Amino acid sequence: MRNRIFFKLLAAFVVVIAAATVTLDFAVRRAWEASLRGEIERNLRQKTVMFANRVNTDRQHGLQDVASQEGQAAGTRATIIDAQGKVLADSEADANSMENHAHRPEFVAALKGEVGTDTRRSHTLGIPFLYIAAPISGGAVRLAYPLSDVEAATARVHRTLLFGSGLAFVVALIVAGIAAHLTARRLQRIVQFAERIAAGELAARIAEGSGDEIGQVAAALDRTAHQLETSFVALQTSQRQLETLLNSMQDAVIAVGADRRVQWANQSMDRLVPQGSRLSAPVVETVRDPDFLRAVRNASEGGKASTTRAGSILPGRTFEVTAAPMPGGGAVAVLRDLTETERVEKTRRDFIANVSHELRTPLTSIQGYTETLLDTAPGGNHSREFLEVIRKNATRMSRLTEDLLTLARVESGEQRFDVQPVTSGELLQDAVQSFHEVARSHGIELQVEDTAQAQVGADRDAVHQVFANLVDNAMKYGASGRRIVLGARTSQSGIEFYVRDFGPGIPSEHLPRLFERFYRVDKARSRESGGTGLGLAIAKHIVLAHGGTIRAESELNHGSTFLFTLPPAGAQQEAQS
Ligand code: ADP
Repeated sequence: MRNRIFFKLLAAFVVVIAAATVTLDFAVRRAWEASLRGEIERNLRQKTVMFANRVNTDRQHGLQDVASQEGQAAGTRATIIDAQGKVLADSEADANSMENHAHRPEFVAALKGEVGTDTRRSHTLGIPFLYIAAPISGGAVRLAYPLSDVEAATARVHRTLLFGSGLAFVVALIVAGIAAHLTARRLQRIVQFAERIAAGELAARIAEGSGDEIGQVAAALDRTAHQLETSFVALQTSQRQLETLLNSMQDAVIAVGADRRVQWANQSMDRLVPQGSRLSAPVVETVRDPDFLRAVRNASEGGKASTTRAGSILPGRTFEVTAAPMPGGGAVAVLRDLTETERVEKTRRDFIANVSHELRTPLTSIQGYTETLLDTAPGGNHSREFLEVIRKNATRMSRLTEDLLTLARVESGEQRFDVQPVTSGELLQDAVQSFHEVARSHGIELQVEDTAQAQVGADRDAVHQVFANLVDNAMKYGASGRRIVLGARTSQSGIEFYVRDFGPGIPSEHLPRLFERFYRVDKARSRESGGTGLGLAIAKHIVLAHGGTIRAESELNHGSTFLFTLPPAGAQQEAQS
C-alpha cells in the first residue's frame, strides 16, 4: 500500500518534472537560436549594404581588392556580380572559374533592387550558409556567412541546457521522492489509525501536528474517534446499568430475536428454567409453554404487546407473561410468577366467602326473631325502639354478607355466566320495567334515551344486576335531579350502555377509585342510605367477566354518568377460540 502510493506520487512527479524540463529545454533553445540567427542576419545585412556602398563609391581599388577586403573585414565570403549574374570578383575563389549566379535566390532579389536573403547548403563546401545580397549599380554584391559556427554555438548551448536540465531533474526527483515518501508515510499512519479504530481500539489517536489537508483529515478522524469512544463508553455504561437493573428484578426477562433465538435473559430467567437459558438457542428449547410462545410470536410478528397467563412453564406455577415487540425485530417478554399472589388472593376470597356464608344463618335467625318480637312487643317503652335498631342493623349486615358473597363468586370466576345473544333494547327494557315503579315512588322519572338496537353477548340476569346497582345509586345519590336517563350506543369495543342522573355529581378526584370495594365518596350518606360500598365493585366484575369495561363521568352540580360496554354477540366465543 505504502509502496503503491509512494510510486504513484513519484511517477506523477517524474512526469511533471520531465515535461517541464523538455518544455524548458525546447523553448529556451528555440528562442536562443532564433535570437542568435536574427542578430547574425541583422549584422550581415548592414555589412552587405556597406559593402554595396563601397563598391558603388570606391574608385581607387579594383573590385577584387574590395571583395577581398570586405570579406576579410566581415569574416565572410564576399562576391560581386554584374547585372547578368557573371561573377566579377570573389574573396575566396577565382571569379572567372565560377558559374553564373544570376539564379541564386538572394541575387535574383538584389538584381531587382532589393536586399535578398537565403540560407542553403553550399555546393562547394557542403556546409550551410546565410547569403545576403544587395544591389549596386550594374550588378549586386553578396556576403556569405557560414552557419556552421551558429550550429556549433547552438550545440554548445544545447549541451549546457541539457546538463542544467538534467541536474535540475535529478534534484527535483530527489525532492519529489522525499516529498512523496513523507506524504506516503503520513497517509500510511492515517490508514493504520483507521485500521485500529475499525478493530475496536477506540482510544487510539493519530495526533497529526500539521494544518495542511492531510493534517485536517487526521484531525477530523481524531475527533470522530473521540466522539465514538465517548458514545461507546456512554452506551456501555447504560447497557451495564440496564443489565444490573434487569438482573435485580424479581420478574424473569427474556429477549428473543426475529429468528426466534434467545438474545438475552436476566438472572431470574436463568433460575427459572432448570437448564438455564442458552444464548442463541431457539427460544422453544428454553421455554416450552405454548401460551408464552404464542405471546412472543404475536409481539414479534404482529408488533403488538399482549399479556397472557402461562401455566406450563414450571409444574404447579402460573405466570403472567407480557410480551412486547422490540425495535428492530424480535420481542421481549417479562414473566411474573403469580402463584403466590393468586394463592393469597384465593385464601382471602375463600375467607370472606366462608365468613359471609357462616354469618348468613345467624343473621337470618336474628332478623326473624327480631321481627317476631317486634310483632308481639308492647308499644310505649324503649324495647320496641331497640328492637327496631337491631332489625335495621341485622338487615344491613345481611345485605353486606350477600354482597360479599356475590362479589366473591364473581371475582373468583366461580359464577358461570350464561352468555346469550340479546338486544340492547331488551336489556334496557328489563331495567326500566324493574325500577320504574320504585323510581316513581321516589318522585324520579326513568327514561330510555337511545337503544342502539344491536345484539350483544350477555348474561341477562347479570347485566340486570349491573343496571340495578347503577340505577339504585342514581336514585340514592342523584335523586335531586328528579330524572334518570338510560341508554345505549355503539362504540369501538361493542355497545356502550349508560345510566345518567342529574344530581350533585362526584368530585373528579374520586372517579378513578369509585369501583374499588368499600370506596365511598360520602361514607355517612352511603350508610344512611343502606349502601354497602360494594355495588360498583360487583358491577365492575360482572362487566369485566363479559369482556367489557366500565367507567364513570361526572360534572359537579350537573350529575353523573356511569358507562359500561358489552361486546357484540359472538365476540366472546371468537376471543376464546
Ligand atoms: P354504595 O353501596 O355506598 O352505594 P357503591 O359501590 O354502589 O357503594 O358506590 C360507591 C360510592 O360511589 C357511593 O358510596 C357514592 O359515594 C358514590 N356514587 C355511586 N353512584 C353515584 C351517583 N350516581 N352519584 C353520586 N355518587 C355516586
